[in-house]
Amino acid sequence: MSDPVPMSEARRYQQLRAHLSYLKLNDAVEALPRVLDQARAERMSLTTALERLLEIEVEATEARKLASRMRFACLPEPWTLNDFDFAAQPGVDEKLIRDLATLRFLDNTSNVLFVGPPGVGKTMLAIALARSAVDAGHRVYFTTAAELAAKCHKAAIEGRWSTCMRFFAGPRLLVIDELGYLPLPGDGASALFQVINQRYLKSSTILTTNVGIADWAGAFGDATVAAAMLDRLLHRAAVVGIDGPSYRMRSHQDHAETLRRGVNARVS
Ligand code: ADP
Ligand code: MG
Repeated sequence: MSDPVPMSEARRYQQLRAHLSYLKLNDAVEALPRVLDQARAERMSLTTALERLLEIEVEATEARKLASRMRFACLPEPWTLNDFDFAAQPGVDEKLIRDLATLRFLDNTSNVLFVGPPGVGKTMLAIALARSAVDAGHRVYFTTAAELAAKCHKAAIEGRWSTCMRFFAGPRLLVIDELGYLPLPGDGASALFQVINQRYLKSSTILTTNVGIADWAGAFGDATVAAAMLDRLLHRAAVVGIDGPSYRMRSHQDHAETLRRGVNARVS
């Protein structure tokens, strides 16, 4: 049915703008004049013009969501897998890491443990996998074991324990960095256990630690908690042991070597 008095083209345009605004498609509103001009100039089909317009809105929405996931994730560094020099760390199984980067482990709710001494790239790999997960649209949260223990402790004191537990249960991927570097306070080990336990078989956790699995009992003070935690973590897990040279020390050594050569050159 056509209107008795046809709406003017200008009025139609204003209505279209108003519809887009009402639906909060603000990027489409902004792009509308440009897309209409293009459509006229390039004699686009209606389908093409509409697709162009909505594509702009979809891309802007995706970018906003990605930025929000990145903010939520609290990744301490911008590292990606491209930054990791596999040649410098022959102890790392590149095939396994690339396989983990496909994020299939999230579908199996598997965990990943990076175990090794300081400076070998554990945190870097954990962040790189976390970043892939953020990019792929997953909710990710990065924390250290000490920070997690402190947050849980504070929540317990303030009567927010269950909210805190729900928070750590939420992310599709939780990274717990640096387990074992600092002794966990009294209730820290049990908080960590509860976090691991409630995520068990529901969502994945990446953990980095300098404590070899055989020594966990000692590191946690409580052998039973350590065994129960390992039981859940390792049930479905990729354990990546990195025992190669420290990358940090490598640059220190290079620096020391340069200094030494400089000194020798001056002496001789
Ligand atoms: P860890 O967590 O095992 O102590 P990090 O992941 O923090 O070690 O790495 C220490 C430093 O060395 C970081 O600046 C990191 O970027 C760098 N690094 C470690 N391994 C590599 C690697 N294989 N390629 C590039 N940089 C690396
Ligand atoms: Mg680290």
